[in-house]
Amino acid sequence: MKLAILSRAPHAYSTRRLRAAALDRGHTVKVLNTLRFAIDLSGEEPDLQYRGRLLSDYDAILPRIGSSITYYGTAVVRQFEQMDVYTPNTANGISNARDKLRANQILSRHNIDMPPTTFVHSRADVKMAIEQVGGAPVVIKLLEGTQGIGVILAPEEKVAQAIIETLHSTKQNVLIQSFISESRGRDIRALVVGDRVVAAMRRVAKGDEFRSNVHRGGTVEPVQLSPEFEQAAVKSAQIMGLRVAGVDMLEGNEGPLVMEVNSSPGLEGIETATGLDVAGAIIDYINNQVAFPEIDVRQR
Ligand code: ADP
Repeated sequence: MKLAILSRAPHAYSTRRLRAAALDRGHTVKVLNTLRFAIDLSGEEPDLQYRGRLLSDYDAILPRIGSSITYYGTAVVRQFEQMDVYTPNTANGISNARDKLRANQILSRHNIDMPPTTFVHSRADVKMAIEQVGGAPVVIKLLEGTQGIGVILAPEEKVAQAIIETLHSTKQNVLIQSFISESRGRDIRALVVGDRVVAAMRRVAKGDEFRSNVHRGGTVEPVQLSPEFEQAAVKSAQIMGLRVAGVDMLEGNEGPLVMEVNSSPGLEGIETATGLDVAGAIIDYINNQVAFPEIDVRQR
């Protein structure tokens, strides 16, 4: 197949691994900078220009859209969809996953267990919202935070109220979430490709930090997931419309609590922790979908 990886970081670990995995398997692969596409709606057929020239035909794309370019990136992906080029992650899926509130709203409709969460606008409703999720300590999250930035643990109700009011006053939208203390600074990242988990790791926070993000000093270890965790991960990715996703879950007393579904999961941490060829699994899945498109449920 002829594959385009949409990425602004050709030298990043994930991009290099995906490109190498495609080449190893005899595919033609190009890494194309998402921001160098021009969306052409002037002709009869939807088209794309790349660096000023009409784009040649591709069988599939693999979007790796960073959070700073969600709008333009999803517009480019949507254009490929209009041109009937296969993508494992649709523009809709990527947008849905990017916004934590939207993702929570969609998942909660489908019986996916998540940490109890509220979202309010008015100052008058903040106190009630904190109580609704079980009172302090609570976790406060910016809607589009990544790498643990914008995730705050407020130990007391008064502090939580002050933080939320401050963020509201600067026009920031925040989620108020129950603190899952039994997860003790740990979480699970499951890498979903199609309808299975191809690799999973546990991230463990550093010292007394509650956020287990690697960018916050967390460490990683491979983990064998129970069927319950596997099912929660696969179901969450599918509900979001993502065939390649990193699903983050807390280990709650009653089982998995899904926090987030990431549409451009990094491969370095999980491949290093597990020793598995995740890039190869992604490329093989895309190639299968291109070769046997009737298997894709969205096209039935
Ligand atoms: P980001 O998208 O910035 O990674 P997350 O929502 O994944 O933000 O939160 C960052 C980390 O904080 C998680 O990996 C987890 O370790 C911890 N965390 C987040 N929410 C909770 C919660 N409700 N209870 C306990 N720990 C949490």
